[in-house]
Amino acid sequence: MSKADPKVRTSFYESVQNYFDKAAVHTGLHEGLLNQIRECNSIYRMHFPVKIGDGYEIIEAYRVQHSQHRSPTKGGIRYSNHVNQEEVMALATLMTYKCAIVDVPFGGAKGGVKINPWDYSAEDLEKITRRYTTELIRRKMIGPAVDVPAPDYGTGPREMAWIYDTYRAFKGDDIDAAGCVTGKPVNQSGIRGRTEATGRGVFYGIRELCSIEEDMKKLGLSKGIAGKTMAVQGLGNVGSYTATISQDEGGVKIVGVSEVEGAIYDANGIDIHKLLQYRAETGSILNYPGAKSFGKDQRTAIMEFDCDILVPAALENQITMENAHKIKAKIIAEAANGPTTSGAEEVLLKAGKVILPDLYLNAGGVTVSYFEWLKNLSHMRFGRMEKRFNQNTYERIVNTIEKNSGKPISETEKRMITRGADEIDLVRSGLEETMIGSYHQCRDILMSKPKVDGLRTAAFVNAIQKISSDYLSMGVFP
Ligand code: GLU
Repeated sequence: MSKADPKVRTSFYESVQNYFDKAAVHTGLHEGLLNQIRECNSIYRMHFPVKIGDGYEIIEAYRVQHSQHRSPTKGGIRYSNHVNQEEVMALATLMTYKCAIVDVPFGGAKGGVKINPWDYSAEDLEKITRRYTTELIRRKMIGPAVDVPAPDYGTGPREMAWIYDTYRAFKGDDIDAAGCVTGKPVNQSGIRGRTEATGRGVFYGIRELCSIEEDMKKLGLSKGIAGKTMAVQGLGNVGSYTATISQDEGGVKIVGVSEVEGAIYDANGIDIHKLLQYRAETGSILNYPGAKSFGKDQRTAIMEFDCDILVPAALENQITMENAHKIKAKIIAEAANGPTTSGAEEVLLKAGKVILPDLYLNAGGVTVSYFEWLKNLSHMRFGRMEKRFNQNTYERIVNTIEKNSGKPISETEKRMITRGADEIDLVRSGLEETMIGSYHQCRDILMSKPKVDGLRTAAFVNAIQKISSDYLSMGVFP
């Protein structure tokens, strides 16, 4: 195993391995077992031709399955120009630990297609997606029991619908075909609440951290998420939901936002809904009324904004040895995968910051993917069986209370109390419970092991312990 060296400039994959090694020493597990957990089990690299315009383009793509200690393996598919084998390996590796932390019974995987999706028409993207899916089917690297993709950077419900349709065309006799991919549109066997899930999970994680008075005191902050200031890097799916839910449900003040075109700052707060509307109309966040604008070249200024919570919600390697010491925020909430290099983390921890690590904080996406997969295998919407029964029971209780107390309860109040849970209510409550429970598992490890230096190491220890007990119970290692 390589030793973590914070002084060198590390790649994303090296950072993930450094984090693992740093945590592994706290587990007391056998090196052979640790190495089995650490390495990527299978790496599939492909090149396939797709007819684009008058000619053919050779597309480079990957699917990496990091660990099959549980089946199926699970993880998104990324469409980006920066995709490379190491990046997909790092992302697949993180998926394994992520699933373990939130007790989702999957191994980790990830896919990548090396294209800039914004350069292609919808028609071409459909061709690329269907061809990529065919490659996976041929290799037996997709299926509800084998490997289940989902959205990631550059993909969304539309691409998942194409994947599902392609899979069904080949495997029409598989009754569970819908479980071959998650993040599908709701009317294509998707689940309500999947699109917002990662951002909502990020919000629940930050809220839980802020709810513990003694931890907030150590940071010199008051208890509770309400009134905290936040800067968000990236307004993609994860960043925009994190910001809107934090503002609407948490009472957070968004003071800074950055995107590819630049960054903006307003100490008085930026209404995130109005900003999203402004960007949709003008194509940019720049010159948003009342805010100070920083052009494209200065967009990394977001890292130095005065705020309580910094949310990197874009891509990896954003917080590095070059800028870590300039960060003012006391809480770094990693909504993206791999935003902080292992060297930068040392700097941040020395400066007394709290990092809510990616492998915990953005696990809301895969958590709700798990719910979607369960829904697909059960062939039934959550809440269908019990909703009306619960509603009738609550109505009887309310009516009895009303009768016995002699005090009338208004119709609006009655409706609120007696409502049975819909799918979206159950998904959100399952996600909330998961994010809170997993936070405390990691925090308990941090509190009980004095040499564990932060929540990331604690989260890795948590994941390694769970995965190792799977291996040990299989009798793979003595
Ligand atoms: N791409 C998301 C992630 O990085 C979701 C994965 C999934 O739902 O399988 O966690």
